[in-house]
Amino acid sequence: SLYLNLLICLIVTLIVLALLNRVIKRYQGQIQTQATLDSLTELPNRRGFDLLAAQAMQEAQREPRPLTALLLDLDHFKALNDTYGHLAGDQVLIGFARDLESCLRHSDIVCRWGGEEFIVLLKDTDGDGGQVIAEKIRQHVERQPYAYNGHRLQLTVSIGLTTLQPDDTLHSLLSRADHAMYRAKQSGRNRICVELPQPAYEKA
Ligand code: GH3
Ligand code: MG
Ligand code: MG
Repeated sequence: SLYLNLLICLIVTLIVLALLNRVIKRYQGQIQTQATLDSLTELPNRRGFDLLAAQAMQEAQREPRPLTALLLDLDHFKALNDTYGHLAGDQVLIGFARDLESCLRHSDIVCRWGGEEFIVLLKDTDGDGGQVIAEKIRQHVERQPYAYNGHRLQLTVSIGLTTLQPDDTLHSLLSRADHAMYRAKQSGRNRICVELPQPAYEKA
């Protein structure tokens, strides 16, 4: 009976350990998901984006295949917050995130970079293709009123566009997109500006 009791104890211990292991793994998965997602828009945050972008850039540079980056910044968003309140701003950010996703393919990478700034990486897309998609997003946002508390809030977005070069790092790629976005703001907002390593040109 001693051996039988020991055997039962062993089996019970193994079952408890297996269950504990499952719970810990599930919990780890949840923590990892939370760490890479923005809680408001449920888009990947910067940390999530870094992981996805590194892989996408590696693939595109190895093949090589085209890749276009968009940096999007909502126009006069502070004024919207100041006029309708922070909660209205939050609702608009959520609505914008869904609209942005609706303009993209599943394979594209989209992230909330921070505040009212978003980044998109368009896989297998050259500059011309990227401009078509950027313009689709710009027009969609311009025409789309965001409902909040009986108000119909209008929004516009400025977009900086650049394409991946063979020697690009994520930093150099995003710096160009940021520069292009800055020009879009400077030249009147609600537009797309393109920044390429050599000649730069822009499109309203
Ligand atoms: P611009 O057209 O030059 O981009 O002007 P802007 O007002 O959009 O830019 P600015 O950088 O002056 O303001 C950004 C605003 O975004 C200020 C900040 O309160 C707001 N914001 C950032 N994150 C959030 C958020 O999570 N929720 C809300 N409601 N507002 C946010
Ligand atoms: Mg901004
Ligand atoms: Mg802004």
